Amino acid sequence: MSEGAFPRPARRFESVGFSEIVKVRNRVMELLSAGQKVWRFEGGEPYMNTPDPVKAAMGDALKRNQTRYAPSSGIPELRKAILAKVRERNGIPADDESPVVVNGGMQGLFAAFATLLDPGDEVLFFSPYWTPVVDLVAYHQAIPVRVPLAQARSEGVTAALARAAKPKTKVIYWNSPNNPTGDVFTRSEVEEVAAFARERGLAVISDEAYEDLIYEGEPCVTPASLPGMYERTITVFTLSKSYSMTGWRLGYMIAPARYQSAIKTVVLYSTNGVSTPTQWAAVEALARGTEYVAEWKSGYRNRRDRLAAGLKAAGFELETPRAALYLFPKTPSWLGADSRQAARTLLDEAKIATVPGIVFGPEGEGHLRFSFSVSDETIAGGVEALAGRGQV
Ligand code: PMP
Repeated sequence: MSEGAFPRPARRFESVGFSEIVKVRNRVMELLSAGQKVWRFEGGEPYMNTPDPVKAAMGDALKRNQTRYAPSSGIPELRKAILAKVRERNGIPADDESPVVVNGGMQGLFAAFATLLDPGDEVLFFSPYWTPVVDLVAYHQAIPVRVPLAQARSEGVTAALARAAKPKTKVIYWNSPNNPTGDVFTRSEVEEVAAFARERGLAVISDEAYEDLIYEGEPCVTPASLPGMYERTITVFTLSKSYSMTGWRLGYMIAPARYQSAIKTVVLYSTNGVSTPTQWAAVEALARGTEYVAEWKSGYRNRRDRLAAGLKAAGFELETPRAALYLFPKTPSWLGADSRQAARTLLDEAKIATVPGIVFGPEGEGHLRFSFSVSDETIAGGVEALAGRGQV
């Protein structure tokens, strides 16, 4: 190579995007630093703090000098607690070697895609979808294939999947409860997806980040709990939402024997596991089960309903979702259907920050995502800033 020439970054990055939500955040930061008040609904995390006993467990681990390398797939105490949880609460017939502790759901998804995808493989997923999914697929030089959710709901899940599947289809990515729509798929929809995966010999990556944030109705059905599905499913869980632990970076994966060694290899050579004291905090969190999240639900429900009422009064069209942390209404005519423009107008004129629906795929266009996991003050301020706007 001649002097002065530099190697370029790997070509795979040419097709990988970098979170558009960051752009919204940057504009919010500009307004804030100009001294403006902004009602921030663009985020995506629990509004309350990590429970004290979980924090204390990390402190105790530090005092016991639990600060050295742990096995890269996780400390035995945590892996055991995970195993008991997924068997009892999720109904997954997991084997003892199955649990792998990872740095949040994000690393779990990365490891799941890395385990399954060769370049050129196709991945089916319902759209709107959580934005990083297309980038994770693209990173592995595979092809993301959207299945419009509205189409699946009108013509049936099996028909919609059959229309999208090709000989190179290898994986279905599945996210229920869903970000951004707050939908929880019904048992019969999950059964259709499972039957389709079995018939076509596909793997399923099930992203269950919001499993504990369901406010009404049936709990979600995890695909790996259905007959014949554990063997072909990688399930990704996280403590981020269930225990208000987004910054701790603690998640876990459950996979059958055929995928375990690939998953463990990805974790070994990317992070060599999760910080040891963090894992001890997670042991305490899992020992508490759903104690905390059960308490938090009424606060979430209350925020969801107040924000939904405010949005409806301002002309937004929405069905109240029964899970997750988001409202995903259609933009009213006074904002227009171009979601990027609508988000900009709302931010500039009402100082309300949201995420444009287009970020969640073309099927999200014409919508805005509002997180209702925000302070009381933000809900009240946002609703007041919207008041009267529907009438103009
Ligand atoms: N899946 C979905 C659908 C999410 O919304 C998130 C977080 N926003 C994650 C996975 C990953 O969360 P974490 O990496 O914090 O565990």
